[in-house]
Amino acid sequence: EHTIGNVPASSSLELLDLSHRYGRGDEWAIRGLTLGLRPGELAALLGPSGCGKTTVLKIVAGLLRPTGGDVLLDGVSIVGMPPERRGIAMVFQKPLLFPHMTVDANVGFGLRMRGISRREVSENVRTALARVQMAGFADRKPDELSGGQQQRVALARVLVTGPRLLLLDEPFSNLDAGLREEMRDLVKDLQGRYGYTTLFVTHDQTEAVVMADRIALLFDGRLQMHDSPKAFYERPASRRVARFFGATNFIPGRAKNGTVATSLGRLRPVRPAPPGDVTLTIRPEAVRLGPGENQFSARITRVTYLGTRVVCDLRAGDVRLRIELPPQTKLREGESIVAHLPAEALWSLED
Ligand code: ATP
Repeated sequence: EHTIGNVPASSSLELLDLSHRYGRGDEWAIRGLTLGLRPGELAALLGPSGCGKTTVLKIVAGLLRPTGGDVLLDGVSIVGMPPERRGIAMVFQKPLLFPHMTVDANVGFGLRMRGISRREVSENVRTALARVQMAGFADRKPDELSGGQQQRVALARVLVTGPRLLLLDEPFSNLDAGLREEMRDLVKDLQGRYGYTTLFVTHDQTEAVVMADRIALLFDGRLQMHDSPKAFYERPASRRVARFFGATNFIPGRAKNGTVATSLGRLRPVRPAPPGDVTLTIRPEAVRLGPGENQFSARITRVTYLGTRVVCDLRAGDVRLRIELPPQTKLREGESIVAHLPAEALWSLED
C-alpha cells in the first residue's frame, strides 16, 4: 500500500498512438498521440480550448476508455484497469471537497476508506497538510477557506494517498494572478522535493513555460511539438507553434546554398534551409541593434514603452519586424537604424 509516509515511487507514463472519438461520427477528439513522461517529470499538456487536453487526462485517469492506442504506467498497460486501482490522482479546476466535513476529515477520507488505522491516517493527514502549507487549518470547513486554500486542501487530499502519477486539469485557472503564481510555485516545489511525476493541463503558454520540464502542444487533437520550453521559443516546429508562443517575426525568402535571399538581404540561419521557398523566424527580443551578422537597415515606425522593455516596430523594404529592447533604449519614430539577427536565434521553419 502506498501512503504518504512511504514516499511513492515516481512512475513513467507512455501514451502510444492514442486516439479518441466520442460517439460514432468522424470527429476525433485526439488522434495518434504518442507521448512519454519520465519518472519525476513535470509535463504540461498545452493547447487552445477544445484541442483534446481533458480527453487525454480522462483516458489516463481511467474515466474514459480510448477508441484506440495504449497507456503504459511503468511499462504496464493500464487501459483496462479500473481508475481506483491505477494509483493516479487527479485535481480538477474546481476543488472537490465535502462541504460538511472539516479539512482534516476531507484529507483523511481516502485513507479511512481503505481501513487504515486512525493514528496512521492522522499522521499522514498532518504530513500532507504541511506539504501544502495548510497545517493550521485542519479544523476548518471548506466554506471557511479561500479558493486558493481550498485548492491546496484538494491537493493534500490526493497526495495523502501516495499517487504514482499526479494529473492536474487547469487547477489554477479560477484563482487570481497572485494566488496562481503561489500555486505554481507550490506544485513545482512538491515535484522537486518529492519527485511526483506530474501531467498538468493548461491553455496558458506562460504557465506551461514557467512550470514544465517539457511541454506537449496539441492542436485539433494532434501533437504539434514535444520539447523543452526553450525549444518552443527558439526552434518552433511550425508557424502556428511559433505564433502560439506570442508575437514573433516571420521573414519570407528563398534558400540556396545554405543562405536565404530576403528583402533584408542574404541571411544565414542557424541551420541551413533546404533549397526553395522558406520562412525564417526570430523572436523580437533576439534582434540586436547595431552592426553584426545578418545585418540590415530599417526605419522605426513605432515605439511603445512597456515599463520593463521597449517595443519597436520596424520597416525594412517590404518586411515589418518587431523588436524588443531594454527600457532605457532611446529611439524615436522615423529614425533609421542598423540592426542584426544573430544566426543562433534565426530559425528556418519547415512549413
Ligand atoms: P478545454 O480547454 O475547453 O477544456 P480541451 O482541450 O480540454 O478543451 P476536450 O474537452 O478534451 O478539450 O475536448 C476535445 C474535443 O472533444 C472537443 O471538440 C469537444 O467538443 C469534444 N468533446 C469533449 N467531450 C465530449 C463528449 N462528452 N461528447 C462529445 N464530444 C466531446
